[in-house]
Amino acid sequence: MDHPLFRPPAEAGSLILRTDQGCPHNRCSFCGMYKGTPYRRLGLDQVGSLVARESRRGRGARRVFLADGDVMARPFDELAAILGMLREGFPGLSRVNVYASGSGIAGKTDEQLRALRGLRLHTLYMGLESGDEETLRRMDKAESAAAMVSAGRRAQACGLHLSVMVLLGLGGRERTAEHARSTAASLNLMQPRLLSALRVIPVPGTALHRESGKGDFLPLTEDEAVRELRMMVEGLELERTVFRANHVSNVVPLEAALPRDKGRLLAQLDKLLASGDLDAESPGPMPLWL
Ligand code: SF4
Repeated sequence: MDHPLFRPPAEAGSLILRTDQGCPHNRCSFCGMYKGTPYRRLGLDQVGSLVARESRRGRGARRVFLADGDVMARPFDELAAILGMLREGFPGLSRVNVYASGSGIAGKTDEQLRALRGLRLHTLYMGLESGDEETLRRMDKAESAAAMVSAGRRAQACGLHLSVMVLLGLGGRERTAEHARSTAASLNLMQPRLLSALRVIPVPGTALHRESGKGDFLPLTEDEAVRELRMMVEGLELERTVFRANHVSNVVPLEAALPRDKGRLLAQLDKLLASGDLDAESPGPMPLWL
């Protein structure tokens, strides 16, 4: 497979097995990850060969990440079969993690979700992106925030861990307040164990980049992006969540254990906003990979 591979930063030490290719939706305006990658799933016999090959290499994986986007969209029987193959191929296996959409979770019963957890499925990485339904609609996200929240809550109630990603600036200047407030509210309902905030970057080749070029989407300035993050953090009422905003797209790298560090985080953001160092005219420097 010669298409680019994406994985969450936390999976750097995991064995990555690409059982699927691309994303079944592949239409979100802001996302360029799988634009040139047609969606397909390896057949179970091919997955079996892949697992056998990696197992023969003697890596003895304890953690496996199944790529690409939304492996959770596979039917329950296929997922259970793949997890069974992994247990057989890697006797020391402790956890298997995947990207998951709300519909990928919603398509399984509680009993099936618990059975997958019993087969070592552990963390589901979900891109909520925003809790603001209008922002999600404008971005052509396949699912509503309400559906993702409901799926995420059910997965956690069945013993799976949820790692949620949100995109700062996704509502643009027009919906920054709604985006911040509604995203915090959705996260409060979901109570994910891990939360990552990345900043949206209009990537060349995406619809968002074209809209931004025409002036139909107004990206936040650096100063506005930090204000939005502050508003979002202020609205969070999380009971046990590790929060990270340390992706290269973020204005400053942040990490916190919530709720313990909420005051410290807000003070840090207030200091930054008062520093006069933030660009109030433009989004500021873009990551080097653009
Ligand atoms: S953001 Fe996720 S669901 Fe949307 S196109 Fe990209 S990989 Fe697919």
